Amino acid sequence: MILVCKSCGFLFERTARPVNCPDCGKTRIEYADIHEKITYLKRKEEGIGLPKEKQSVKPSHRRSHL
Ligand SMILES: [Zn+2]
Repeated sequence: MILVCKSCGFLFERTARPVNCPDCGKTRIEYADIHEKITYLKRKEEGIGLPKEKQSVKPSHRRSHL
């Protein structure tokens, strides 16, 4: 299901309705209406407006066989 935070407008997808907004931590979580769902899916397609996960860049180990 797609949910929206009525406090900050954060749109996100969860299998269960959380108590707190994952963005601002407020408790004004509602089910997204059709317009909000469209907005969410558009953002998802474009890859914007979604929380960016920290990318762990692993240092490439130099292989020294000598
Ligand atoms: Zn929020």
